[in-house]
Amino acid sequence: MTYQSINPANGTLMQSFAEISDAELEAKLALAASCFESWKKTSYAERATIVTKAAALLHERVDAFARTMTLEMGKRIDEARGEVEFSSNILTYYAENAERFLAPVKLDPIIGAAHMESSPIGMIFGVEPWNFPYYQLARVAGPHLMAGNVLLVKHAGCVPQCAIAFEQLWIDAGAPVGLYTNLLISHAQSNAVVDDPRIKGVALTGSVAAGRSIAARAGQNLKPSSMELGGSDAFIVLEDADLDFAVKWAVWGRMYNTGQTCCAAKRFIIVEPLAAAFQAKFQAALGTLVAGDPMDVATTLGPLSTESALTDLLAQVDTAIAHGAKLVMGGKRVDRPGAYMQPTILTDVEPDNPAFRDEFFGPVAMLFTVKDEDAAIALANDSDFGLGGSVFTADVQRGQRVASRVDTGMMFINNISWSDAELPFGGIKNSGYGRELGDMGIQAFVNKKLVRTADLQAPA
Ligand code: NAP
Repeated sequence: MTYQSINPANGTLMQSFAEISDAELEAKLALAASCFESWKKTSYAERATIVTKAAALLHERVDAFARTMTLEMGKRIDEARGEVEFSSNILTYYAENAERFLAPVKLDPIIGAAHMESSPIGMIFGVEPWNFPYYQLARVAGPHLMAGNVLLVKHAGCVPQCAIAFEQLWIDAGAPVGLYTNLLISHAQSNAVVDDPRIKGVALTGSVAAGRSIAARAGQNLKPSSMELGGSDAFIVLEDADLDFAVKWAVWGRMYNTGQTCCAAKRFIIVEPLAAAFQAKFQAALGTLVAGDPMDVATTLGPLSTESALTDLLAQVDTAIAHGAKLVMGGKRVDRPGAYMQPTILTDVEPDNPAFRDEFFGPVAMLFTVKDEDAAIALANDSDFGLGGSVFTADVQRGQRVASRVDTGMMFINNISWSDAELPFGGIKNSGYGRELGDMGIQAFVNKKLVRTADLQAPA
Protein backbone atom coordinates (compact mmCIF):
# COMPACT_ATOMS: atom_id res chain seq x y z
CA MET A 1 0.00 0.00 0.00
CA THR A 2 1.75 3.19 -1.15
CA TYR A 3 -0.50 5.78 0.46
CA GLN A 4 -0.67 5.53 4.23
CA SER A 5 -1.82 8.18 6.62
CA ILE A 6 0.03 7.51 9.87
CA ASN A 7 0.13 9.93 12.80
CA PRO A 8 3.89 10.32 13.48
CA ALA A 9 3.22 11.61 16.99
CA ASN A 10 2.01 8.16 18.09
CA GLY A 11 2.39 5.75 15.17
CA THR A 12 -1.35 5.21 14.70
CA LEU A 13 -2.39 4.17 11.20
CA MET A 14 -5.37 6.41 10.43
CA GLN A 15 -6.19 5.40 6.86
CA SER A 16 -4.72 3.61 3.85
CA PHE A 17 -5.47 4.31 0.24
CA ALA A 18 -5.01 1.97 -2.69
CA GLU A 19 -3.30 3.21 -5.81
CA ILE A 20 -5.69 3.79 -8.65
CA SER A 21 -5.72 1.31 -11.55
CA ASP A 22 -4.26 2.13 -14.96
CA ALA A 23 -7.81 2.36 -16.32
CA GLU A 24 -8.76 4.87 -13.62
CA LEU A 25 -5.63 6.83 -14.38
CA GLU A 26 -6.51 6.94 -18.06
CA ALA A 27 -10.02 8.18 -17.22
CA LYS A 28 -8.55 11.01 -15.14
CA LEU A 29 -6.09 11.96 -17.87
CA ALA A 30 -8.94 12.04 -20.40
CA LEU A 31 -11.05 14.29 -18.15
CA ALA A 32 -8.12 16.66 -17.66
CA ALA A 33 -7.50 16.76 -21.41
CA SER A 34 -11.12 17.60 -22.05
CA CYS A 35 -11.09 20.26 -19.35
CA PHE A 36 -8.04 21.93 -20.89
CA GLU A 37 -9.89 22.41 -24.17
CA SER A 38 -12.39 24.70 -22.47
CA TRP A 39 -10.22 26.10 -19.66
CA LYS A 40 -7.63 27.48 -22.08
CA LYS A 41 -10.34 29.64 -23.63
CA THR A 42 -11.52 31.17 -20.37
CA SER A 43 -10.67 34.76 -19.49
CA TYR A 44 -8.33 35.63 -16.65
CA ALA A 45 -11.35 36.97 -14.78
CA GLU A 46 -13.17 33.64 -15.07
CA ARG A 47 -10.11 31.76 -13.86
CA ALA A 48 -9.62 34.22 -11.02
CA THR A 49 -13.17 33.63 -9.80
CA ILE A 50 -12.38 29.97 -9.09
CA VAL A 51 -8.84 30.51 -7.80
CA THR A 52 -10.04 33.31 -5.50
CA LYS A 53 -12.82 31.09 -4.20
CA ALA A 54 -10.30 28.33 -3.45
CA ALA A 55 -8.16 30.87 -1.59
CA ALA A 56 -11.16 32.01 0.45
CA LEU A 57 -12.11 28.43 1.33
CA LEU A 58 -8.58 27.69 2.53
CA HIS A 59 -8.79 30.74 4.74
CA GLU A 60 -12.28 29.89 6.04
CA ARG A 61 -11.36 26.27 6.75
CA VAL A 62 -7.88 26.90 8.07
CA ASP A 63 -8.39 24.82 11.21
CA ALA A 64 -9.64 21.75 9.39
CA PHE A 65 -6.89 21.88 6.78
CA ALA A 66 -4.23 22.45 9.43
CA ARG A 67 -5.51 19.63 11.61
CA THR A 68 -5.29 17.12 8.76
CA MET A 69 -1.70 18.19 8.12
CA THR A 70 -0.68 17.97 11.77
CA LEU A 71 -2.23 14.54 12.21
CA GLU A 72 -0.72 13.22 9.00
CA MET A 73 2.85 14.57 9.01
CA GLY A 74 3.32 16.04 12.49
CA LYS A 75 3.69 19.75 11.74
CA ARG A 76 3.06 21.76 14.90
CA ILE A 77 -0.45 23.16 14.70
CA ASP A 78 0.49 26.85 14.67
CA GLU A 79 2.94 26.28 11.84
CA ALA A 80 0.29 24.23 10.05
CA ARG A 81 -2.23 27.08 10.29
CA GLY A 82 0.42 29.47 9.00
CA GLU A 83 1.04 27.22 6.01
CA VAL A 84 -2.66 27.06 5.14
CA GLU A 85 -2.98 30.86 5.30
CA PHE A 86 0.15 31.27 3.20
CA SER A 87 -1.21 28.84 0.61
CA SER A 88 -4.36 30.93 0.44
CA ASN A 89 -2.26 34.07 -0.09
CA ILE A 90 -0.36 32.43 -2.95
CA LEU A 91 -3.59 31.59 -4.75
CA THR A 92 -4.87 35.15 -4.26
CA TYR A 93 -1.57 36.59 -5.50
CA TYR A 94 -1.82 34.73 -8.81
CA ALA A 95 -5.54 35.41 -9.17
CA GLU A 96 -4.74 39.12 -8.89
CA ASN A 97 -1.55 39.27 -10.94
CA ALA A 98 -1.61 36.53 -13.61
CA GLU A 99 -3.08 38.71 -16.34
CA ARG A 100 -0.42 41.38 -15.78
CA PHE A 101 2.40 38.81 -15.73
CA LEU A 102 1.22 37.19 -18.95
CA ALA A 103 0.19 40.33 -20.83
CA PRO A 104 1.63 40.69 -24.36
CA VAL A 105 5.05 42.32 -24.37
CA LYS A 106 5.77 44.77 -27.17
CA LEU A 107 9.16 44.35 -28.88
CA ASP A 108 11.02 46.90 -30.98
CA PRO A 109 12.29 45.28 -34.19
CA ILE A 110 14.09 47.52 -36.68
CA ILE A 111 11.48 46.67 -39.29
CA GLY A 112 7.78 46.36 -38.57
CA ALA A 113 6.17 45.62 -35.25
CA ALA A 114 6.35 42.60 -32.98
CA HIS A 115 5.15 41.32 -29.67
CA MET A 116 5.43 38.26 -27.48
CA GLU A 117 2.26 36.66 -26.27
CA SER A 118 1.84 34.01 -23.62
CA SER A 119 -0.54 31.09 -23.94
CA PRO A 120 -1.17 27.94 -21.92
CA ILE A 121 0.46 24.72 -23.10
CA GLY A 122 -1.83 22.06 -21.63
CA MET A 123 -1.73 19.43 -18.93
CA ILE A 124 1.00 19.91 -16.32
CA PHE A 125 2.10 17.07 -14.04
CA GLY A 126 3.31 17.96 -10.54
CA VAL A 127 5.17 15.60 -8.18
CA GLU A 128 5.20 17.06 -4.69
CA PRO A 129 6.70 16.34 -1.24
CA TRP A 130 5.08 15.94 2.15
CA ASN A 131 6.98 18.60 4.11
CA PHE A 132 4.65 21.43 3.06
CA PRO A 133 1.60 19.43 2.05
CA TYR A 134 -0.51 22.41 0.89
CA TYR A 135 2.01 25.19 0.22
CA GLN A 136 3.77 23.00 -2.35
CA LEU A 137 0.45 22.39 -4.10
CA ALA A 138 -0.56 26.07 -3.99
CA ARG A 139 2.83 26.97 -5.47
CA VAL A 140 1.99 25.03 -8.63
CA ALA A 141 -1.81 25.38 -8.69
CA GLY A 142 -1.93 29.18 -8.37
CA PRO A 143 0.30 30.04 -11.31
CA HIS A 144 -0.39 27.18 -13.67
CA LEU A 145 -4.19 27.22 -13.38
CA MET A 146 -4.25 31.00 -13.76
CA ALA A 147 -2.06 30.62 -16.87
CA GLY A 148 -4.80 28.48 -18.40
CA ASN A 149 -3.17 25.09 -17.92
CA VAL A 150 -4.71 22.18 -16.02
CA LEU A 151 -2.88 20.31 -13.30
CA LEU A 152 -2.47 16.69 -12.23
CA VAL A 153 -0.53 16.03 -9.03
CA LYS A 154 1.15 13.02 -7.49
CA HIS A 155 1.60 13.86 -3.83
CA ALA A 156 3.88 12.02 -1.39
CA GLY A 157 2.88 8.61 -0.07
CA CYS A 158 2.56 9.76 3.55
CA VAL A 159 0.10 12.64 3.03
CA PRO A 160 -2.84 11.18 1.08
CA GLN A 161 -5.46 12.95 3.21
CA CYS A 162 -3.86 16.34 2.53
CA ALA A 163 -3.70 15.46 -1.17
CA ILE A 164 -7.37 14.51 -1.25
CA ALA A 165 -8.39 17.57 0.79
CA PHE A 166 -6.63 19.87 -1.67
CA GLU A 167 -8.39 18.27 -4.63
CA GLN A 168 -11.72 18.62 -2.82
CA LEU A 169 -10.92 22.30 -2.30
CA TRP A 170 -11.06 22.85 -6.05
CA ILE A 171 -14.29 20.92 -6.41
CA ASP A 172 -15.80 23.06 -3.63
CA ALA A 173 -14.49 26.20 -5.32
CA GLY A 174 -16.53 25.32 -8.43
CA ALA A 175 -13.67 24.18 -10.63
CA PRO A 176 -14.64 22.24 -13.74
CA VAL A 177 -13.96 18.49 -13.59
CA GLY A 178 -10.36 17.82 -14.60
CA LEU A 179 -8.97 21.25 -13.68
CA TYR A 180 -7.08 19.93 -10.64
CA THR A 181 -6.63 16.18 -10.28
CA ASN A 182 -5.03 14.31 -7.42
CA LEU A 183 -3.38 11.07 -8.55
CA LEU A 184 -2.80 8.27 -6.04
CA ILE A 185 -0.32 6.50 -8.28
CA SER A 186 2.88 4.44 -8.12
CA HIS A 187 6.26 5.59 -9.40
CA ALA A 188 5.79 3.37 -12.47
CA GLN A 189 2.45 5.01 -13.20
CA SER A 190 4.07 8.38 -12.61
CA ASN A 191 6.61 7.54 -15.33
CA ALA A 192 3.75 6.63 -17.65
CA VAL A 193 2.14 10.01 -16.93
CA VAL A 194 5.38 11.82 -17.81
CA ASP A 195 5.54 9.82 -21.04
CA ASP A 196 1.91 10.53 -21.94
CA PRO A 197 1.78 12.86 -24.95
CA ARG A 198 -1.06 14.86 -23.39
CA ILE A 199 1.27 15.97 -20.56
CA LYS A 200 3.17 19.09 -21.67
CA GLY A 201 5.27 19.97 -18.63
CA VAL A 202 6.52 18.44 -15.39
CA ALA A 203 7.19 20.20 -12.06
CA LEU A 204 8.85 18.25 -9.26
CA THR A 205 9.73 19.24 -5.74
CA GLY A 206 11.58 16.59 -3.79
CA SER A 207 14.88 14.81 -3.35
CA VAL A 208 17.79 14.82 -5.76
CA ALA A 209 17.14 11.16 -6.57
CA ALA A 210 13.52 11.82 -7.52
CA GLY A 211 14.61 14.88 -9.50
CA ARG A 212 17.16 12.91 -11.49
CA SER A 213 14.60 10.25 -12.31
CA ILE A 214 11.73 12.53 -13.32
CA ALA A 215 13.89 15.16 -15.06
CA ALA A 216 15.55 12.43 -17.15
CA ARG A 217 12.15 11.09 -18.09
CA ALA A 218 10.86 14.54 -19.00
CA GLY A 219 14.03 15.19 -21.00
CA GLN A 220 13.61 11.94 -22.89
CA ASN A 221 10.17 13.20 -23.87
CA LEU A 222 11.48 16.70 -24.69
CA LYS A 223 9.14 18.21 -22.13
CA PRO A 224 9.96 21.30 -20.09
CA SER A 225 10.47 20.69 -16.41
CA SER A 226 11.22 22.55 -13.23
CA MET A 227 13.09 20.90 -10.37
CA GLU A 228 12.98 22.15 -6.78
CA LEU A 229 15.30 19.78 -4.95
CA GLY A 230 17.22 19.54 -1.71
CA GLY A 231 19.63 21.93 -0.08
CA SER A 232 22.30 22.29 2.57
CA ASP A 233 22.09 26.00 3.15
CA ALA A 234 24.90 27.88 4.83
CA PHE A 235 24.09 30.19 7.75
CA ILE A 236 27.08 32.53 7.89
CA VAL A 237 27.72 34.61 11.00
CA LEU A 238 30.38 37.30 10.50
CA GLU A 239 32.36 38.70 13.42
CA ASP A 240 30.34 41.96 13.49
CA ALA A 241 26.95 40.23 13.78
CA ASP A 242 24.53 40.71 16.66
CA LEU A 243 24.99 37.31 18.24
CA ASP A 244 21.70 37.00 20.11
CA PHE A 245 19.77 38.13 17.05
CA ALA A 246 21.61 35.59 14.89
CA VAL A 247 21.09 32.75 17.37
CA LYS A 248 17.32 33.33 17.36
CA TRP A 249 17.27 33.03 13.57
CA ALA A 250 19.57 30.00 13.79
CA VAL A 251 17.12 28.18 16.04
CA TRP A 252 14.17 29.09 13.86
CA GLY A 253 16.08 28.37 10.66
CA ARG A 254 17.09 24.91 11.77
CA MET A 255 14.00 23.92 13.76
CA TYR A 256 11.02 25.34 11.81
CA ASN A 257 8.95 22.40 10.57
CA THR A 258 11.17 20.21 12.79
CA GLY A 259 14.06 20.91 10.44
CA GLN A 260 12.31 19.39 7.44
CA THR A 261 12.61 22.34 5.09
CA CYS A 262 14.57 22.30 1.84
CA CYS A 263 16.07 25.74 2.50
CA ALA A 264 16.52 25.33 6.26
CA ALA A 265 19.80 26.50 7.73
CA LYS A 266 21.84 23.30 7.78
CA ARG A 267 25.50 24.34 7.84
CA PHE A 268 26.31 26.98 10.46
CA ILE A 269 29.51 28.74 9.45
CA ILE A 270 30.73 31.02 12.21
CA VAL A 271 33.70 33.38 11.98
CA GLU A 272 36.24 32.63 14.70
CA PRO A 273 35.77 35.35 17.32
CA LEU A 274 32.07 34.45 17.71
CA ALA A 275 32.23 30.68 17.24
CA ALA A 276 32.44 29.51 20.86
CA ALA A 277 29.79 31.93 22.10
CA PHE A 278 27.50 31.08 19.17
CA GLN A 279 27.77 27.37 19.90
CA ALA A 280 27.06 27.85 23.59
CA LYS A 281 23.99 30.02 23.01
CA PHE A 282 22.68 27.90 20.14
CA GLN A 283 23.07 24.71 22.18
CA ALA A 284 21.36 26.29 25.17
CA ALA A 285 18.44 27.47 23.03
CA LEU A 286 18.00 24.07 21.36
CA GLY A 287 18.13 22.48 24.81
CA THR A 288 14.96 24.31 25.85
CA LEU A 289 12.81 22.62 23.20
CA VAL A 290 10.45 20.02 24.61
CA ALA A 291 8.87 17.20 22.62
CA GLY A 292 5.10 17.09 22.78
CA ASP A 293 1.85 16.63 20.92
CA PRO A 294 2.00 18.78 17.75
CA MET A 295 -1.73 19.48 18.18
CA ASP A 296 -0.88 21.37 21.39
CA VAL A 297 0.15 24.98 20.70
CA ALA A 298 2.49 24.86 23.70
CA THR A 299 4.64 22.13 22.11
CA THR A 300 8.06 23.35 20.98
CA LEU A 301 9.41 20.15 19.39
CA GLY A 302 7.20 18.12 17.06
CA PRO A 303 7.85 14.71 15.53
CA LEU A 304 9.44 14.01 12.17
CA SER A 305 7.05 13.14 9.37
CA THR A 306 7.41 9.36 9.58
CA GLU A 307 9.18 6.65 11.55
CA SER A 308 11.41 5.92 8.54
CA ALA A 309 12.41 9.60 8.27
CA LEU A 310 13.56 9.34 11.89
CA THR A 311 15.47 6.06 11.52
CA ASP A 312 17.16 7.32 8.32
CA LEU A 313 18.24 10.53 10.05
CA LEU A 314 19.55 8.69 13.12
CA ALA A 315 21.57 6.43 10.84
CA GLN A 316 22.94 9.46 9.00
CA VAL A 317 24.08 10.99 12.30
CA ASP A 318 25.70 7.68 13.34
CA THR A 319 27.56 7.55 10.00
CA ALA A 320 28.77 11.13 10.47
CA ILE A 321 30.10 10.24 13.94
CA ALA A 322 31.73 7.05 12.65
CA HIS A 323 33.59 9.23 10.15
CA GLY A 324 34.95 11.58 12.81
CA ALA A 325 32.23 14.10 13.57
CA LYS A 326 31.87 15.14 17.19
CA LEU A 327 28.40 14.92 18.74
CA VAL A 328 27.87 18.05 20.84
CA MET A 329 24.26 17.34 21.76
CA GLY A 330 21.35 15.06 20.85
CA GLY A 331 21.81 12.35 18.25
CA LYS A 332 19.11 10.02 19.62
CA ARG A 333 15.38 9.55 19.39
CA VAL A 334 13.38 11.14 22.18
CA ASP A 335 12.32 8.61 24.79
CA ARG A 336 8.58 8.68 24.14
CA PRO A 337 6.19 7.23 21.54
CA GLY A 338 6.30 8.77 18.09
CA ALA A 339 9.00 9.76 15.59
CA TYR A 340 10.75 12.39 17.73
CA MET A 341 14.41 13.27 17.31
CA GLN A 342 16.52 15.17 19.80
CA PRO A 343 17.86 18.49 18.50
CA THR A 344 21.38 17.60 17.46
CA ILE A 345 24.64 19.48 16.91
CA LEU A 346 27.65 18.05 15.10
CA THR A 347 31.07 19.67 14.88
CA ASP A 348 34.38 18.54 13.34
CA VAL A 349 32.73 17.44 10.10
CA GLU A 350 35.68 17.23 7.72
CA PRO A 351 35.41 17.19 3.91
CA ASP A 352 36.02 13.43 3.77
CA ASN A 353 33.01 12.78 6.02
CA PRO A 354 29.88 11.84 3.99
CA ALA A 355 27.97 14.28 6.20
CA PHE A 356 29.95 17.16 4.71
CA ARG A 357 28.03 16.83 1.42
CA ASP A 358 24.77 15.40 2.78
CA GLU A 359 21.48 17.06 3.47
CA PHE A 360 20.21 16.49 7.04
CA PHE A 361 16.43 16.67 6.69
CA GLY A 362 15.56 17.16 10.33
CA PRO A 363 16.84 18.81 13.53
CA VAL A 364 20.56 18.23 12.95
CA ALA A 365 22.91 21.22 12.73
CA MET A 366 26.50 21.08 11.53
CA LEU A 367 28.72 23.78 13.05
CA PHE A 368 31.88 24.99 11.35
CA THR A 369 34.38 27.58 12.60
CA VAL A 370 36.26 29.63 9.99
CA LYS A 371 38.89 32.31 10.27
CA ASP A 372 37.29 35.05 8.17
CA GLU A 373 34.72 36.12 5.61
CA ASP A 374 36.57 34.63 2.63
CA ALA A 375 36.87 31.27 4.35
CA ALA A 376 33.17 31.40 5.17
CA ILE A 377 32.27 31.99 1.53
CA ALA A 378 34.64 29.26 0.33
CA LEU A 379 33.08 26.76 2.73
CA ALA A 380 29.54 27.83 1.83
CA ASN A 381 30.35 27.22 -1.84
CA ASP A 382 31.96 23.84 -1.19
CA SER A 383 28.63 22.11 -1.57
CA ASP A 384 26.86 20.11 -4.25
CA PHE A 385 23.71 22.03 -3.39
CA GLY A 386 22.87 25.63 -4.22
CA LEU A 387 19.43 26.40 -2.90
CA GLY A 388 19.66 29.26 -0.39
CA GLY A 389 21.79 30.68 2.38
CA SER A 390 22.05 33.54 4.82
CA VAL A 391 24.58 35.95 6.22
CA PHE A 392 24.44 37.83 9.51
CA THR A 393 26.41 41.06 9.87
CA ALA A 394 26.01 44.58 11.25
CA ASP A 395 26.94 45.93 7.81
CA VAL A 396 24.16 45.31 5.29
CA GLN A 397 26.36 46.30 2.32
CA ARG A 398 28.97 43.80 3.42
CA GLY A 399 26.17 41.25 3.69
CA GLN A 400 25.11 42.00 0.13
CA ARG A 401 28.70 41.60 -1.10
CA VAL A 402 28.94 38.23 0.62
CA ALA A 403 25.52 37.22 -0.74
CA SER A 404 26.70 37.96 -4.29
CA ARG A 405 29.65 35.60 -3.86
CA VAL A 406 27.68 32.62 -2.54
CA ASP A 407 26.60 30.26 -5.34
CA THR A 408 22.93 29.69 -4.59
CA GLY A 409 19.54 30.63 -5.97
CA MET A 410 18.56 32.69 -2.90
CA MET A 411 20.42 34.62 -0.19
CA PHE A 412 19.03 36.30 2.91
CA ILE A 413 20.77 39.03 4.89
CA ASN A 414 20.06 39.19 8.63
CA ASN A 415 17.00 36.98 8.18
CA ILE A 416 15.98 33.73 6.63
CA SER A 417 12.47 34.66 5.70
CA TRP A 418 12.48 32.26 2.81
CA SER A 419 9.28 32.50 0.93
CA ASP A 420 6.73 35.08 -0.13
CA ALA A 421 4.22 34.79 -2.94
CA GLU A 422 5.88 37.61 -4.86
CA LEU A 423 9.50 36.38 -4.54
CA PRO A 424 10.98 33.75 -6.85
CA PHE A 425 12.08 30.55 -5.13
CA GLY A 426 14.56 27.97 -6.39
CA GLY A 427 18.15 26.87 -6.64
CA ILE A 428 21.12 25.89 -8.75
CA LYS A 429 23.49 22.87 -8.84
CA ASN A 430 21.89 19.77 -7.30
CA SER A 431 19.15 21.95 -5.84
CA GLY A 432 17.56 21.95 -9.27
CA TYR A 433 16.50 24.51 -11.85
CA GLY A 434 13.63 26.81 -12.60
CA ARG A 435 11.86 29.11 -10.18
CA GLU A 436 8.48 28.90 -8.51
CA LEU A 437 6.49 31.84 -7.10
CA GLY A 438 6.66 35.48 -8.18
CA ASP A 439 6.42 36.51 -11.80
CA MET A 440 8.93 33.81 -12.82
CA GLY A 441 6.76 31.06 -11.36
CA ILE A 442 3.96 31.61 -13.85
CA GLN A 443 6.26 31.70 -16.88
CA ALA A 444 7.47 28.09 -16.53
CA PHE A 445 4.77 26.39 -18.59
CA VAL A 446 3.48 28.93 -21.07
CA ASN A 447 4.18 29.26 -24.74
CA LYS A 448 6.07 32.47 -25.39
CA LYS A 449 4.99 33.21 -28.92
CA LEU A 450 6.57 35.82 -31.16
CA VAL A 451 4.14 37.60 -33.47
CA ARG A 452 5.65 39.91 -36.08
CA THR A 453 3.90 42.24 -38.49
CA ALA A 454 5.99 43.78 -41.29
CA ASP A 455 5.28 45.07 -44.75
CA LEU A 456 8.11 43.12 -46.37
CA GLN A 457 8.62 41.54 -49.78
CA ALA A 458 10.07 38.04 -49.84
CA PRO A 459 13.79 38.17 -50.73
CA ALA A 460 14.36 37.38 -54.41
P1 NAP B 1 11.13 12.40 -2.33
O1 NAP B 1 11.30 11.07 -1.77
O2 NAP B 1 11.89 12.77 -3.54
O3 NAP B 1 9.57 12.59 -2.58
C1 NAP B 1 9.03 13.74 -3.21
C2 NAP B 1 7.94 13.31 -4.16
O4 NAP B 1 8.53 12.62 -5.24
C3 NAP B 1 6.93 12.36 -3.54
O5 NAP B 1 5.66 12.62 -4.11
C4 NAP B 1 7.44 11.01 -3.99
O6 NAP B 1 6.45 10.03 -4.00
C5 NAP B 1 7.91 11.34 -5.38
N1 NAP B 1 8.90 10.45 -5.93
C6 NAP B 1 10.07 10.05 -5.39
N2 NAP B 1 10.75 9.28 -6.26
C7 NAP B 1 9.98 9.18 -7.36
C8 NAP B 1 10.13 8.52 -8.61
N3 NAP B 1 11.22 7.79 -8.90
N4 NAP B 1 9.13 8.62 -9.51
C9 NAP B 1 8.05 9.35 -9.22
N5 NAP B 1 7.85 10.01 -8.09
C10 NAP B 1 8.81 9.93 -7.16
O7 NAP B 1 11.44 13.56 -1.33
P2 NAP B 1 11.36 13.51 0.23
O8 NAP B 1 12.65 13.01 0.71
O9 NAP B 1 10.13 12.88 0.72
O10 NAP B 1 11.23 15.10 0.45
C11 NAP B 1 12.20 15.86 0.94
C12 NAP B 1 13.12 16.38 -0.15
O11 NAP B 1 12.46 17.38 -0.90
C13 NAP B 1 14.32 17.04 0.48
O12 NAP B 1 15.48 16.76 -0.23
C14 NAP B 1 13.96 18.51 0.37
O13 NAP B 1 15.07 19.35 0.44
C15 NAP B 1 13.25 18.55 -0.93
N6 NAP B 1 12.40 19.75 -1.03
C16 NAP B 1 12.77 20.74 -1.89
C17 NAP B 1 12.02 21.91 -1.96
C18 NAP B 1 12.40 23.03 -2.90
O14 NAP B 1 11.56 23.88 -3.16
N7 NAP B 1 13.61 23.09 -3.39
C19 NAP B 1 10.88 22.06 -1.17
C20 NAP B 1 10.55 21.03 -0.30
C21 NAP B 1 11.32 19.87 -0.24
P3 NAP B 1 6.42 8.86 -2.88
O15 NAP B 1 6.23 9.54 -1.59
O16 NAP B 1 5.28 8.01 -3.30
O17 NAP B 1 7.76 8.16 -2.99
